[in-house]
Amino acid sequence: ASMAPTKGDEQPPLRMLFFPFLLPGHLIPMADMAALFAARGVRCTILTTPLQASTIRSIVDRANTSLGSVDVVVVPFPDVGLPPSAESGTGLTSKDYNDRFLQTAELLREPFRRFLSDHHAEIDAVVSDGIFHWSVDEAAEHGVPRITFLGTSMFARSCTEAMLRSNPLEACSDDPAAVVSLPGLPHRVVELRGQMMDPVKRPHEWALFQLIHAADRRSYGELFNSFHELEPAYAEHYRATLHRRAWLVGPVALASGSGKDVASRGAIAGTLSPEAIGCLRWLDKKPASSVVYASFGTMTSFSPEQTRELARGLDLSGKNFLWVITNGSAAAASVDICMPDGFPTAHRGYVVHGWAPQVLILNHPAVGGFMTHCGWNSTLEAVSAGVPMVTWPRYADQFHNEKLVVEVLGVGVSVGAEDYATWMETHRVITGQVIAESIRKVMKEEGDGDMIRKRAEELRDKARAAVEKGGSSYDDVGQLMEELIARRCSGRKAGG
Ligand code: UDP
Repeated sequence: ASMAPTKGDEQPPLRMLFFPFLLPGHLIPMADMAALFAARGVRCTILTTPLQASTIRSIVDRANTSLGSVDVVVVPFPDVGLPPSAESGTGLTSKDYNDRFLQTAELLREPFRRFLSDHHAEIDAVVSDGIFHWSVDEAAEHGVPRITFLGTSMFARSCTEAMLRSNPLEACSDDPAAVVSLPGLPHRVVELRGQMMDPVKRPHEWALFQLIHAADRRSYGELFNSFHELEPAYAEHYRATLHRRAWLVGPVALASGSGKDVASRGAIAGTLSPEAIGCLRWLDKKPASSVVYASFGTMTSFSPEQTRELARGLDLSGKNFLWVITNGSAAAASVDICMPDGFPTAHRGYVVHGWAPQVLILNHPAVGGFMTHCGWNSTLEAVSAGVPMVTWPRYADQFHNEKLVVEVLGVGVSVGAEDYATWMETHRVITGQVIAESIRKVMKEEGDGDMIRKRAEELRDKARAAVEKGGSSYDDVGQLMEELIARRCSGRKAGG
């Protein structure tokens, strides 16, 4: 292809294909990211399934401007025997449903291959979810660079790299309370054995991690929903020590602006329940920074016993609280029988069942703290809103993110979770007393709550500056675009 431009030659806009995994925590930031590139003039396509397409419609609609565009190519939801209610990936109510949902990651290979084989000539880059490790081969076959996106922090990614490189658990005692150090990182990072993913206990998860990371090392580079000023040592570690190419373009939720479309971001068919809309009116009536917001993402559920303690903790904290309980979750099933009389209204609380407008909630002046499972999207949304966190990680990258929030950034207090385990496995119950104390610490009343809030507000300002014109994330978007243009002009068609 001799596309070298001469003066006055009009280049057609860059074209990027975004290929997110179907779970909300993967899909939403990828859609936000496509919107971000569209705002810079890129023609973006998102390949996804019907229900998933309905949840990102508000993001897509907003992104279609005179400058760039986002279109959605819809392929059928793979037939894995899931009922339609489970296709959204929220509140997957059994291990079986969970496993089936994961199978969709393999079954999307065929539609992806077909799309790429029809359109590879027009596509400048594929941004693929890391979980589709095979997309590195499909993209290479068609001479399209594959950029990976795993939706986690650079800190957590570096921790996982350290684990994969030297498996520090191998030489350590079996005691879950054993202290394990992650080698070769910019800070001294230690975790308890029980908080870490154990390759012996979780051979399938570990094998998948290895596949994902091996594919990522062969990729053109990696996109991160993060920003330089948040974790500069890890951005540097990634580039200088691990020799990886990374562009930090977040927080992507911030770049998506404000307004009505933010409310329906991620809700099925773009529709919020009256109860979910009602929580914003409820917040309007509360004093500034007086409410703790408790929500644990889309994949976390508590046992009936833990649900009761959580209700007790919110009550004992003496704070106003807004609690989101995922539909279909075990907590949802047990919540009514577990609650004290008059809960939540008589206890200064409001409960949303199902999907809540999280970004609007976190940015509401009444919210003064966020009790979170440390999913990376939630964590970064809290950082962007300047809201300090009570951290309650469960599995995946969440314990690493807790370290970043509490020890490196100093914008949170840990509730003291110790078991790396999904909602289907057992966890030590955290008592209402401990939950209440952690909330009070973060909500300024005990310890160094004021300092935590001050740091959170500083980070919020840095986050906002990063995505503005001339900010570090804005510049990283520009740099990647320039590289892709240059690559196109040089006619190179190598995938790596
Ligand atoms: N989310 C939301 N409303 C809800 C639950 C979740 O808007 O009721 C959004 C949240 O803002 C975040 C994403 O869903 O963008 C959840 O991603 P995260 O990484 O925090 O957790 P995961 O669900 O992947 O564990």
